[in-house]
Amino acid sequence: MSRLLIISNRLPLNVERKGDKLNFQPSLGGLATALGAFYKSRPSLWIGWPGIEQEKIKKGEEREIEDKLAEERCYPVFLSEKDVDDFYFGFCNQTIWPLFHYFPHYVEYDPVLWQAYQRVNEIFADAIVSVAKEDDIFWVQDYHFMLLPKLIRDRLPRATIGFFLHIPFPSYEVYRLLPWRREILEGLLGANLLGFHTHDYVWHFLNSTRNLLGYSTGMGWITASDHVSKADVFPIGIGYEHYSSIAGSPEVDAEIKKFREKLGDKKVIVSVDRLDYSKGIPNRLEAYGLFLEKHPEYREKVVFILVIGPSRIRVQRYAELKQQIEEMVGTINGRFGTVGWTPLEYIYNPIPYHALLGMYRMADVCPITPVRDGMNLVAKEYLATKIDGRGVLILSETTGAARELGDAIMVNPNNIEEIAQAFADALAMPEKEQIERNRAMQEIIKRYDVSRWAGDFIDKLHETVKMETGAVPEPLPDKTRRELTGQLQKARARLLLLDYDGTLVPFAKTPEEAKPDAELLKLLSELNKDARNEVVLISGRDKNTLDRWFGSLKTAMVAEHGVWMKVKGGDWGKMSGLSDDWKGEARAIMQLAVDRIQGSLIEEKDYSLAWHYRRADPRISERHIREIVNDLLNLTANSNLRVLEGSKVVEVKSANLNKGSTAQHWLSRQAWDFVLAIGDDVTDEDLFRALPEKAWSIKVRPGLSAAKFSLDSPDEVRALLKELV
Ligand code: UDP
Repeated sequence: MSRLLIISNRLPLNVERKGDKLNFQPSLGGLATALGAFYKSRPSLWIGWPGIEQEKIKKGEEREIEDKLAEERCYPVFLSEKDVDDFYFGFCNQTIWPLFHYFPHYVEYDPVLWQAYQRVNEIFADAIVSVAKEDDIFWVQDYHFMLLPKLIRDRLPRATIGFFLHIPFPSYEVYRLLPWRREILEGLLGANLLGFHTHDYVWHFLNSTRNLLGYSTGMGWITASDHVSKADVFPIGIGYEHYSSIAGSPEVDAEIKKFREKLGDKKVIVSVDRLDYSKGIPNRLEAYGLFLEKHPEYREKVVFILVIGPSRIRVQRYAELKQQIEEMVGTINGRFGTVGWTPLEYIYNPIPYHALLGMYRMADVCPITPVRDGMNLVAKEYLATKIDGRGVLILSETTGAARELGDAIMVNPNNIEEIAQAFADALAMPEKEQIERNRAMQEIIKRYDVSRWAGDFIDKLHETVKMETGAVPEPLPDKTRRELTGQLQKARARLLLLDYDGTLVPFAKTPEEAKPDAELLKLLSELNKDARNEVVLISGRDKNTLDRWFGSLKTAMVAEHGVWMKVKGGDWGKMSGLSDDWKGEARAIMQLAVDRIQGSLIEEKDYSLAWHYRRADPRISERHIREIVNDLLNLTANSNLRVLEGSKVVEVKSANLNKGSTAQHWLSRQAWDFVLAIGDDVTDEDLFRALPEKAWSIKVRPGLSAAKFSLDSPDEVRALLKELV
């Protein structure tokens, strides 16, 4: 089994200075706990910052830290105070964090912080390479290291690299605000596999990649100029069994007993968050106040324990938020409290583990109301401790967890009335219903727990690398070329499926200019003359053009990607069941594009519309073009239409029409003992995929393809065809 290198900002062990000594403590919460068991179950090394700035480390202590961490299979990367300030508290938590959580007004766009982010990512890349061995797998974690996949790839081109983002990936309209948006996407795309918590995040990421880098995306694959990456969904889980078994332990029983001595039989509401503006804590408190106001019957009968874990307090926003929360707690307690009753118990401290689980287990209601949260593990932890099935989870719809936990009471975190009502509904929910809902959600989080999450990611990473390797065809080697011509010579029934534009002729400025030259016509005519050959020209062009150009050759042809077909020496026949009543709306979008992008034009065919921009000013940004493609994609979503991107052309046509079904038609006409297909763009991929195993397939120009081999240019294709003659 190859060794797994996990790279994250913090290590599972945290180093602190206690006077003259160094203190090694397990890191609380988050990734360390989540991945702890998984990384120990296989050969691995965890690389991260040990939690102490370089300036606080005395001579000789670096070695001590390294040795101690090595016992836990951890490797420290040391950072200076300035790096920690500008990288972690700076770019990570004042730029990326607020932007990705939809707080654009909180974002600092500071080049100094960006430089620190680049610098620390480089420091990590060098450190990683210094300990990496051949065959290691790299798994980079989270928003601190979005440049790292590419930096590792630059140093180790053949490495297997995965990346997981634990926070949301925001919608394109928000992501595009970032001045360094392209660098970050390029950095991420150094990974073979990119993992996200939800389909929305994947969609946002792909959208940004298409719009900002112009790379094509399909089925989660991103095709860059020289490599491919895959984006997929892996919703992180918790160590379910661990939580549910400890929740029933005597230690937790004892904690609950202690709480109950103080709280009596009051109904208990518990929320647990790290201090963060994304967690929607003020909204929750406001809603609690409104609930007490509207439901006086619950006064003195309910207690809300608000647990907040200290976090990032060196960032001004966090200090302000803490103050705001404390003022609100004071206001609510002042307004509703009585001599014997404090409606809100506020704890701003890390809570010991057993006490935390005791609180979860005891809580009748757990309101989790972030305005934005990548996943939210507290929701899952709460459910895991509900061994008797009782308790109600209130969950904001803007958390990743909401995608899985549909049986929670769902709220819009900005709707204070709705959250207040949710408190009342939760407290009044019959026990039977609570148990039914919780059991259903428990099944989900039990099945996809954290080790399944990590295991799935690593399996998928291997699979992706394997698919990528098979997905880039190798240039046709001379020996194989001889084999190909040899097979053709022996064969009596030969099918040659040839794409036209980009395959037999190079691209020209307008579709009309790419007409066949005398040499090509001669070549095709000679091939076609041999009675053993069936040469089929497959083109997206209209049949009149094809007739004008090739009519005299009497070869078989397919026009408009399969709308029209004719056999050798025969006449055109049309595919049935096609409609073109969608054209008006698609034409309107394309016309707008033509008006805006000078030199681009619409080509109208019987059952398709194509927008060509080859002649447009090359300075027109790729982004502009992406926006038009997006408009067409939105128009055709959930319809029987397909948007196909070729080389500097976007075409809208019926989904039933593709070169794959065309190929099947020709393949089934008779038994062939030699089949060769050559093509160059996305539309030809359907053709390659439809071919039988023994067929020859060649993609023109290197790139991702289902074809077996590649050739560099139409000239090379012609040279091969000449050999076949
Ligand atoms: N946590 C904790 N003490 C606190 C607050 C949070 O131990 O006072 C833990 C909590 O149990 C959970 C993690 O920190 O495991 C928070 O994860 P979540 O995904 O909910 O939020 P994040 O902190 O990642 O934004």
